[in-house]
Amino acid sequence: MLPEEVLHRTQTALVDLDGSGIGILEHSHRGKEFMRVLERTEQAIREVGGIGDDYAVMFVTAGATPHFAMVPANFLGADETADYCHTGVWSGKAMEEARRVGTVHVASSSEADRFASVPTDCRWSASPRYVHYTSNETIYGTEWAAPPRGAPAPLVCDASSDIFSRPLLLAGHGMVYAGAQKNLGPSGISLVIGRKDFLATGNRELPPLLQYRTYADEHSLHNTPNTFGVYVIGEVVAWIRAQGGLAAMAERNAAKAKLLYDFLDASPQWTPHAKPGSRSNMNVTFRGATKELEEAMLARAEERGMSGLRGHRSVGGIRASIYNAFPEAGVRALVELLDEFS
Ligand code: PMP
Repeated sequence: MLPEEVLHRTQTALVDLDGSGIGILEHSHRGKEFMRVLERTEQAIREVGGIGDDYAVMFVTAGATPHFAMVPANFLGADETADYCHTGVWSGKAMEEARRVGTVHVASSSEADRFASVPTDCRWSASPRYVHYTSNETIYGTEWAAPPRGAPAPLVCDASSDIFSRPLLLAGHGMVYAGAQKNLGPSGISLVIGRKDFLATGNRELPPLLQYRTYADEHSLHNTPNTFGVYVIGEVVAWIRAQGGLAAMAERNAAKAKLLYDFLDASPQWTPHAKPGSRSNMNVTFRGATKELEEAMLARAEERGMSGLRGHRSVGGIRASIYNAFPEAGVRALVELLDEFS
């Protein structure tokens, strides 16, 4: 979900951006109107995220998946090692891409635990180029409570499914990247926050659009950016600011998730997948006592207009995605529905 007021403002901006009489889809990306949108979006991101001048804020067209390949292409040499913390489907895909480029050392893995937890006791390789982790595993419903500790190299984080759901702890990070479509805006655009001295170590032989420095040096304007995506992200982040910022978002998100986890923990019919201490506040995954129970609940959910509850095709079960803009009332409605099957 995106905040409804943002959707309404976007509706107006499609026809008339900031009173210019021309819509956001029509303005030139070099014109002063879009420059203002780009500036204010970056400014809002820096303000809300508490991001200093040592980091560049970039908008990369396309979602999070291209970064699985771009990160090693930029930062990993053929004879170098990168450490990856493996917590599920997404870190698995990221590792697959890195292996095409150099050596991947799996510093920690929860595979033996069916990805129900986040193993924080990492065993680092001797001198990794960077340490990659996925702050929120969208499919299994686990989340790092805090970034990995004691990493011997810059952290690189795929924060696609929990960016701006809680305060951004940038210390130790070379880069954070996130597809926008969960908490920030539309699909097909990603936000990248990169420490400038880390970006400077990237491979200079790649085509310019594949080098992160190009986005940093040219203010994401090397070619035509996703202007609509930048606009929506700006509006969403301004909404987050108006809600009280990331600390307030974190409080709300924790309270929403707690409602659901408390119910599941007490229920004989419904069992949460993720273990306490590793549970996601964004994606709550659980199973019913039987497949029939799950199907009956999903059918009633559809009747009530509650959609998207079926777990990811790779793991099954149920998944409630309760991103920033999802209201507490929606979580209460789900608990009531589940309770009817208890
Ligand atoms: N990483 C994570 C954690 C995700 O949740 C997703 C999408 N659900 C992706 C990467 C891939 O994003 P995209 O489809 O935008 O490439």
